[in-house]
Amino acid sequence: MEIDLSQIYTCPHCQMETPHYLLARREERVAIACSRCRTTSLVNAVDLENHQTWWEAELQEILAGLDENGLDDEH
Ligand SMILES: [Zn+2]
Repeated sequence: MEIDLSQIYTCPHCQMETPHYLLARREERVAIACSRCRTTSLVNAVDLENHQTWWEAELQEILAGLDENGLDDEH
C-alpha cells in the first residue's frame, strides 16, 4: 500500500491548511501530525481523502483562474 508522506488538512492549532505527516492508519482512523507545529490529529480516512480531493479541486480552480486571466490579457 502506498503511504503519503504529507496530506493537506486543517490544523486545529495553526488554523489553516497545512501539510500533515501520516503517522498511523488503522482501518478508517488516521493519525496525522502537522508539519508546522507537530500537533497530532485523529481523523476519519474518508474525511482526509475528501479534504484532499477538495483541496486539489481548489488548486485546479485557482490554476484555471490564472489561465483564464492570461487568456483575457491576450484579447
Ligand atoms: Zn499546525
